Amino acid sequence: MMIMMAPEASPEQIRQVVARLEATGTVHPKVVPGASQIAVAAIGDAAAVRGLGLQALDGVDQVVPLSRPYKLASSELSHHAPSVFDIAGRRIGPDTFCIVAGPCTVESREQTLRVAEAVAPHAGMLRGGAFKPRTSPFSFKGLGRPALEILAEARERTGLPVVTELTDLQQADAVAEVADVIQIGARNMQNYALLEVAGKLGRPVLLKRGLSSTLEELLMAADYVLKEGTDEVVLCERGIRTFETATRFTLDLGAIPWLKLHTHLPVIVDPSHAAGDRRLVEALARGAAAVGADGIIVEVHDEPEQAMCDGPQQLRTRDFPRFATEVLAHAALVGRRPSTG
Ligand code: PEP
Ligand code: MN
Repeated sequence: MMIMMAPEASPEQIRQVVARLEATGTVHPKVVPGASQIAVAAIGDAAAVRGLGLQALDGVDQVVPLSRPYKLASSELSHHAPSVFDIAGRRIGPDTFCIVAGPCTVESREQTLRVAEAVAPHAGMLRGGAFKPRTSPFSFKGLGRPALEILAEARERTGLPVVTELTDLQQADAVAEVADVIQIGARNMQNYALLEVAGKLGRPVLLKRGLSSTLEELLMAADYVLKEGTDEVVLCERGIRTFETATRFTLDLGAIPWLKLHTHLPVIVDPSHAAGDRRLVEALARGAAAVGADGIIVEVHDEPEQAMCDGPQQLRTRDFPRFATEVLAHAALVGRRPSTG
């Protein structure tokens, strides 16, 4: 339910509403500022909210239902205005296009620094996995904590904020210490314990869509993070499982305009994992810009033939400047400027 406060409602009247909702023990209240009036979202037990008779309180304009199954992520909550985040000096929102670029995996200090320096002039953020979720338990799972130190050095040298994945509750503090953005990978989109921890780390979260998850499930997963306090959740469409096996996954570009209608959260696209083949990545990235994505996250390697993970889909560092220029030109056609520092 949404408790719409009257435009002249006092802070004390808003506090009263929040206190009554909290006292139910079954409702999660969240104050939502708006252009003309403040709302209090009451998430959870709708019957308990109805039982409070809040519409009779001074300062309350009306009590209206939140109709969608996802709540904090819903555009109903933001009065249909898109959220704009400033993440370590990078703007993520409807006027900008952010290119997050870097290797799939931090394999060595030298490799990571070479790639970071190559992408820095055109990218908005640096990606790189320290802890990798691998389909086979026998595959390389990343360098772990030493990789976090390498990413911190790469940030120091290039000024690029760092996006890196959290795969395990036990690494949460170590990852949060270095990451400017905490990535939750596709395989963990419904790892609810991990989502709740990620929401408590005080860092923005990049939440990737699960391999076989619906968009409603993605938004409810975002609710798990948002309810813990983090306001900054960026969604990522990275391709889904379909009957088609020619591409690694099927990039669901229709997801982007649908998400723009139904959530206030920014949405980026991962053309690398969707394609599985570097020759397809630029076309998908241009498509992402054209359908209104707020950015892309793309894999880049200086020697993809030697990569320990996802070699075939990683762009070559030497091709990256032209790639980024092309994609940003497409983003400019839909009114977006580069989200660089
Ligand atoms: C990644 O971005 O490193 C990754 C593993 O992607 P996904 O979770 O989308 O498979
Ligand atoms: Mn990868």
